[in-house]
Amino acid sequence: MIEPDFLKGGKRYNDLKSYWRNLFGCNVHKLQIDAGFTCPNRDGHVACGGCIYCDGRGSKLRQSGSLPDVAAQIQNGKKYYEGKADKFIAYFQTFTNTYAPVDKLKLLYNEALNEQDVIGLAIGTRPDCLPDATIDLLSDYAGKYHVWVELGLQSIHDKTLSFINRGHDVRQFYDAVHRLSGRGLNICVHIIIGLPGESDDDIRQTAKAISSLPVNGIKIHSLLALAGTRLGEMYKNGEVSLMTRDKYVSLVCDVLEILPPHMVIQRLTADGYRDILLAPDWVKNKLDVLNSINIELKRRDSRQGRRLPQQD
Ligand code: SF4
Repeated sequence: MIEPDFLKGGKRYNDLKSYWRNLFGCNVHKLQIDAGFTCPNRDGHVACGGCIYCDGRGSKLRQSGSLPDVAAQIQNGKKYYEGKADKFIAYFQTFTNTYAPVDKLKLLYNEALNEQDVIGLAIGTRPDCLPDATIDLLSDYAGKYHVWVELGLQSIHDKTLSFINRGHDVRQFYDAVHRLSGRGLNICVHIIIGLPGESDDDIRQTAKAISSLPVNGIKIHSLLALAGTRLGEMYKNGEVSLMTRDKYVSLVCDVLEILPPHMVIQRLTADGYRDILLAPDWVKNKLDVLNSINIELKRRDSRQGRRLPQQD
């Protein structure tokens, strides 16, 4: 059995920070950007109201009423990481960051890449918002920069996508991955553990499906009930229950064991939202969740990819 490199570094999964340090030989951080996009699942293009857990507020910058330009957001973000990072990835995070004509996208992405020490892009988007012309644009950048396309998926089951009002189906996800792959781009998929109606096996099936695709990275988080969302209302009415910390930790470990060792684990906990979080309370202690995942993997004497057939 070949041991993955992250084990030599004392890790049990392929974390993003270490991955970038090995790749670039320095500390790299993402800088979050709100470029003013909306979402086709909120504005009526695909559906109205968005995913049932989406709070629809955008970033803190947007909430404050002023949205500085992309360059200014990068310059501000860099100040925060002074002495902690050498290079940066411009992370277009808020809502759907390919939801505009290609010419406009190009202007915004160029503005970010023209900033000093920005070595790449991470573009958060939906599988149904990637026309071929946009993929061509992103692929052009990939020749010179480190580029990630982050696809919101959440579950591989259509019954769940329909329940959470994603506004796209699994077929559209497979189509997006197919058209993105082989273009020099890194593909990251976002999933949620604890979606209503999903069994443990449903969650493991999502991980299995992703592990069989040309996907380079994953973000995992637990379902959060937020004030002002449809899910928040359902939670308050007792229509949905949320996962305990121990259950979440156990399922994250199950998922990690199914994912191939080369897949970069970009996130294992939910972040932010403290001001409108209804439940679960345990997500507030991010460090405790991460420690618990490490402890559970150690208890199982396990690691990322441990349950893949070729690893045994
Ligand atoms: S795709 Fe993202 S931004 Fe759009 S409604 Fe869903 S969670 Fe909100």
